[in-house]
Amino acid sequence: MKMKSDNYITLEFLSRSANEGFARGAVACFAAQLDPTLEELGDIKTAVSEAVTNAIVHAYPDRLGKIVIKARILEGGILEVSVRDWGQGIPDKARQPLYTTGGEERSGMGFTIMESFMDQLTVRSQDGKGTRVTMRRRIQPRRQVR
Ligand code: ATP
Ligand code: MG
Repeated sequence: MKMKSDNYITLEFLSRSANEGFARGAVACFAAQLDPTLEELGDIKTAVSEAVTNAIVHAYPDRLGKIVIKARILEGGILEVSVRDWGQGIPDKARQPLYTTGGEERSGMGFTIMESFMDQLTVRSQDGKGTRVTMRRRIQPRRQVR
């Protein structure tokens, strides 16, 4: 569903694993304006980390490529984060728990983790053209303590 945005940032970086921590931290800093709890912030960082790691290791398995993150604040205190790559695209069944093309070192749990830590997850992908993973999470409003 299309929703009006109150604020946004765009972040572009190369698919080097050194940039994963930067991307996760930058989204967390942006999300801070919604006054999340540490737990909410931790959930968001985990989900962003999974999506960015996927773009780094699966979208561009044998080359470096571009990753773009857009984070938006939507009406009602909803944080939306989309992670986009221009890599090889995702097989249809990739969202099933335990499905992986990553071999021994991957558990196939990334999408399951993103789904459980965020309220909404959508994946749009085209073979050979890339993937966009969009996640939304509502941050509970908190009463100001004075
Ligand atoms: P884990 O995240 O537990 O280390 P994983 O990355 O294999 O393992 P998921 O994150 O659930 O598990 O992803 C499932 C599969 O979806 C991957 O193995 C890969 O085949 C595919 N995939 C995920 N993200 C992308 C992407 N951005 N581009 C191409 N394929 C992807
Ligand atoms: Mg993964």
